[in-house]
Amino acid sequence: MSEETSINSPIFGSIQASENVILNKLRKEPVNATLAYRLIKDQLIDEGNARQNMATFCQTYMEPEAQKLMAETFEKNAIDKSEYPSTAAIEEACVNIIGDLWNAPDQKQLIGTSTVGSSEACMLGGMAMKFKWRKEAEARGIDIQKQRPNLIISSGYQVCWEKFCVYWDVDMRTVPMDVNHMSIDVDKVMDYVDEYTIGIVGILGITYTGKYDDIKALNDKVEAFNQETGRELGIHVDGASGGMFAPFVFPDLEWDFRLKNVVSINTSGHKYGLVYPGVGWILWRDRHFLPEELIFNVSYLGGEMPTMAINFSRSASQILGQYYNFYRFGFDGYREIHLRTQKVAMKIAKAIDSFDIFEIYNDGENLPIVCYRLKDDANVNWNLYDLADRLQMKGWQVPAYPLPEDLENVEIQRFVCRGDFGMNMANALIEDIKAAVAELDKANVSMHADEGPHVHGFTH
Ligand SMILES: *Cc1c(COP(=O)(O)O)cnc(C)c1O
Repeated sequence: MSEETSINSPIFGSIQASENVILNKLRKEPVNATLAYRLIKDQLIDEGNARQNMATFCQTYMEPEAQKLMAETFEKNAIDKSEYPSTAAIEEACVNIIGDLWNAPDQKQLIGTSTVGSSEACMLGGMAMKFKWRKEAEARGIDIQKQRPNLIISSGYQVCWEKFCVYWDVDMRTVPMDVNHMSIDVDKVMDYVDEYTIGIVGILGITYTGKYDDIKALNDKVEAFNQETGRELGIHVDGASGGMFAPFVFPDLEWDFRLKNVVSINTSGHKYGLVYPGVGWILWRDRHFLPEELIFNVSYLGGEMPTMAINFSRSASQILGQYYNFYRFGFDGYREIHLRTQKVAMKIAKAIDSFDIFEIYNDGENLPIVCYRLKDDANVNWNLYDLADRLQMKGWQVPAYPLPEDLENVEIQRFVCRGDFGMNMANALIEDIKAAVAELDKANVSMHADEGPHVHGFTH
């Protein structure tokens, strides 16, 4: 082997191919581009097939035309509204389209923005509630230094809310979930409210189980409270997963701006909005609920345009990918995709149920998510972690994990079905589950017998 790699060296005859690719210090010399591409790409070879990743809500497929459009727009900076005015107009169109899907009462009063994902969107929703609360509490003569403000949410919250509370110094008051309430307990929620409550978060699609909080019932409770106290307590709906699913599949379900006290809603464009990760959205029903201090202006066509995101520079390609889907699929296209995904999930749930050893927690109807536990009397010598291992041999990535606070002794397993998961793939998965269960029933050794509940795979 020669010491020098020439431009003509075969990739796998190169010096670089015999070295580690992951370096913690820059190489001194450049590497040929073809070689760099191949070796870095190969480094990812053990990561599994994203489309068999049943653990994630995040989109793992987009049409080639969408990919092309996104690849050709990576260089556009979403914050440069003046330089990319059409992109800015498209972002605004997305906000209006989503506002329409969420039944915003008045498009002129509606305000919203794209974000990197729901986490950034939730930070903004939480901050708006905190700022508004502070102003009103001061006006009511409350000593706002006396104790920390608080936010109310069910214990099935996604970690971004814990981050919000830590970053912005807010107490998180969690309403416990129990087996009868795998979502927020509406009868108990108001017990947690006091003068220091900045708002209540309802979740449309609890990450653990896919259940919807009953936002309509929550709205009734909040309405009664506001009538009685003259306050303007608001609900923020975390619709990370359901916000782009329910409008198409359950258009009559009232969870959105049709409800008077729902002041803001977020969603992840990269979940059922069907865009590759990094796009989210937050909308406020009315500018009244977004305190002015949180709005900053950037220049736009000689004038100004309001922005309210936390991040500044990022590629506009995800926004354009979102618009591609809106424009290309239309309402009916989204509905067809989601209804088919729902059918797939329900078929998997039925297959799981037919083993008679699993208790189904979510059957795929409200969100195309199947989750289940092993029945107490299942009488098997293996657990869900063992099943996950066996499925991994066929390339399926399936998480198993304990439920949150108060239900932490319940271990569940969850399949998230996405738009690119067809019935043919589902049938293959079902066959693989059958084979895995048969194998485990015959096995002498259970790999994970003594481990107890722990998180296996990602659960976002
Ligand atoms: C996924 C999820 C989030 C976080 O969303 P990202 O877009 O990944 O930042 C927040 N809340 C809920 C309910 C989720 O399911």
